[in-house]
Amino acid sequence: MTSLPPGSWIGVLGSGQLGRMMAFAAKRMGYKVAVYSPDKESPLGSLADKTWVGSYENESELSKFGISVEVITYEFENVPEKTATLLASLVPVRPGPQVLSVAQNRQREKTFLERSGVPVTRFHAVNQSSDIADAIAKVGFPGVLKTSESGYDGKGQWKVHSEEELKTSFQKASVPCVYEAWVEFRKEVSAIVARGLDGAKCIWDISENTHTGHILDCTQVPAGLSAEEERLVQEIAFSIADKLDVVGVICIEFFVGTEVLANEIAPRPHNSGHWTIEGSVTSQFEQQVRAICGLPLGSTKRLAAGVGMANLLGDVWQAGEPRWEKALADGDLHLHLYGKSEPRLGRKMGHLTVFADSSLQAAIRVKQARENLSSAKP
Ligand code: AMP
Repeated sequence: MTSLPPGSWIGVLGSGQLGRMMAFAAKRMGYKVAVYSPDKESPLGSLADKTWVGSYENESELSKFGISVEVITYEFENVPEKTATLLASLVPVRPGPQVLSVAQNRQREKTFLERSGVPVTRFHAVNQSSDIADAIAKVGFPGVLKTSESGYDGKGQWKVHSEEELKTSFQKASVPCVYEAWVEFRKEVSAIVARGLDGAKCIWDISENTHTGHILDCTQVPAGLSAEEERLVQEIAFSIADKLDVVGVICIEFFVGTEVLANEIAPRPHNSGHWTIEGSVTSQFEQQVRAICGLPLGSTKRLAAGVGMANLLGDVWQAGEPRWEKALADGDLHLHLYGKSEPRLGRKMGHLTVFADSSLQAAIRVKQARENLSSAKP
């Protein structure tokens, strides 16, 4: 196994906060970071050693970027597969284009999971109106119609209770979709796995996630699963990483209720893994660097009994500049801001992480700190 030593160039497709946090880890370890994205100003652009601004279809610019770096990774899964394949002919792309292909299309993702023997929500592909009758026969109501591609944070999703609603939602979507059964889960959890170039794997403690308006609101660790549920989630997550031959970090989100069901795969560090930056020996971002550079993986040991992470959306800025001093008065709290200038409603601007004696206490404390940010000025 040949590893890329510090000083090597890492290329990143996409320039958001996930790329920025990976770049902090990479630069701390002595690597150089080049970013390629269509955005002139971005969270990663201000930090990268070199910035390429171009579209993901611009083959000549992509090729120049490709030959200027020693390995390429991506920080969002909607990089066109064609782009990743072109780059992979010039330089290693990790995780490989085969992982992107599965993760960026819900029909392929669910079919892959089902064929791999992974339990998933009942689903049926809806590519045209004539598929709706079979979808209802298989899935029933209530259900959720999701666009196969380009959906995120609940965009491109409709909960439906009748044939009429399903037909109207499919008309609105007007692209290939997946119709799946609505699950009454007890918890939503995620498993983050890293897999090295040599196939070695590790996993962090499973985290419990709560969402508001389909956007991740808070993550708490440990997730409070039974030993059997925890074992099952880990086993499924490892088997997915192996089957996809992932080199890098991958997140698998699950619904846990009467069954453990895999919901979604993200082939990159994930919002629900931000707690690992301070909360574990090796963060998901450092691990991504280690994995794609062919280095041994670091320990995923958790450093506190309970860890809580709360996202800071643009909403926090609506009453004026947040009261940072009030939140940071909690000495166990860490603040992360992503360098975005416009705090729009629903936009992920940063996050807070806190340690406590249990995951529940950590969640309460981190949410309290966030509330303190926008509390009325005296
Ligand atoms: P997804 O884009 O598939 O991760 O969905 C976004 C969020 O919508 C999930 O985190 C769940 O909270 C909710 N959701 C999605 N699919 C279902 C489902 N089949 N049953 C219940 N809730 C769902």
